Amino acid sequence: MSNGLSPDPSLIGGVPEAPFAIIPDPETVFATRARRFAFLAESGNLGGYLRFLGELARVQADLLADLPPVSTPHRAGMPPIDRKALAGDAALDATLTRLCAAAKSIDMPEAARAARQAVTSASPADRAWMFLNLAKDHIPADATAPHLFAAAAFQLHLSLLAATLAANDLTPLGTGICPACGGKPVTSSVIANETVENVRYCTCATCATQWNEVRIKCQNCGSTKGISYRSAETQEATVKAECCSECQGWLKILYQVKNPSLDPVADDVASLGLDLMMRETGLKRAGFHPFLAGF
Ligand SMILES: [Zn+2]
Ligand SMILES: [Zn+2]
Repeated sequence: MSNGLSPDPSLIGGVPEAPFAIIPDPETVFATRARRFAFLAESGNLGGYLRFLGELARVQADLLADLPPVSTPHRAGMPPIDRKALAGDAALDATLTRLCAAAKSIDMPEAARAARQAVTSASPADRAWMFLNLAKDHIPADATAPHLFAAAAFQLHLSLLAATLAANDLTPLGTGICPACGGKPVTSSVIANETVENVRYCTCATCATQWNEVRIKCQNCGSTKGISYRSAETQEATVKAECCSECQGWLKILYQVKNPSLDPVADDVASLGLDLMMRETGLKRAGFHPFLAGF
């Protein structure tokens, strides 16, 4: 009812409440990611890889219209999406087949081309093995290229599953754990929109659900003590490493509030220089990013 007199429930107390979870709209997620990768490919020395990932995200976005509706596991417990149960899922397997076929026209390095071919002809058991690895946010060091295509299909399928959930049904499951699928975050972002300002959300590396976190907190161990920030450029950098002296872990934090175009996945890849800088510190990167597994 809008008579102009009823208070907006989200504004009671004068401070808008940030929703705990933001359910992904897969079309927007992958189309935005594709555009951002394409833009980032125009600058810097990672152009070829960023362009490839941009075209892969475009393939993901375009496939959405053709994929059958998802109907797989919503279990009663939490998280509602049971990742491990998806390893042998027929719809997920079919999505991988279609993704590999659609990716054939993408200009890619020879290793990726061979991996796409290998995944296309892989047995159901080999594909299930890759999905089980991805369900555990784990990529074997000697099989990063095939897992990249499996991860793209896994992202598509899980984002579609997440899109069927209701944000209000999701509850916090702990630090660094996606409330929709139990996966790890790729990065976190400080955002502002019509209702909230300067709030932080972690983005799931796989299903793209976002969940609210306090501004200064290690996303690996949950500590709010001993947190510091490092950047490859200036103090004004829009991508920083949030570092924890308690567990020696770190994860990137993106200041979308300063640059709304930052994308939780694309800008993580484009800021690879920060990863290389952090490698010198001995701290260990937390979270998960299948597109950075080969670096
Ligand atoms: Zn998730
Ligand atoms: Zn920590």
